[in-house]
Amino acid sequence: MKTVTIKPPWLLGFTRRFISLNQPLMQDFGAWHFQPGMRFQEKAQWWRPGFSRSTPHEGVDFCCFKDKAGELVYLRPGCKIPALFKGRVAALFDDFLGRSLYIVHKDNGCQLSGTIYAHIQPVPEITVGRVVEAGEVVGVTAPQRRSGPLRSHLHLSMCRAAKNVPPPTDWQTIHHLPIELINPFS
Ligand SMILES: [Zn+2]
Repeated sequence: MKTVTIKPPWLLGFTRRFISLNQPLMQDFGAWHFQPGMRFQEKAQWWRPGFSRSTPHEGVDFCCFKDKAGELVYLRPGCKIPALFKGRVAALFDDFLGRSLYIVHKDNGCQLSGTIYAHIQPVPEITVGRVVEAGEVVGVTAPQRRSGPLRSHLHLSMCRAAKNVPPPTDWQTIHHLPIELINPFS
């Protein structure tokens, strides 16, 4: 039986932009590759086989892809990251590998939708309050903290929150505020 993979509408445009921004690394891009633990709500630590995360994964990790020959290629520190959607920078805070950037997009009456780009080094123009266009480079993948299997990667989260919920100030507040994390691939 043929397996049909449902892809979210943003993924193709994001991937095309990511490829064009990150040449020559991405020139033979075939498809993103996700190891167990890299997708939403998965429990495994992909960098430490046999260990579990303390909380289910809050998003999707873009860390590697298969090239056209089927070989696995890893992203590197310094890969340019395009914004998925137009939005306003609502928060910028440290995470355990770099910085996290929280951009809010839609103002749906009483709800906001947001995207979080984590483990990045934001470009200097990215400051709280600034409006970011879709496709604009918001930062680059942060360096590895130390040599080892926890490679440089982009963590992407998508969420919804009521308009009166304050923007998060770190990942602890994301877990404690009434912010609903949603599967970026749904
Ligand atoms: Zn992650």
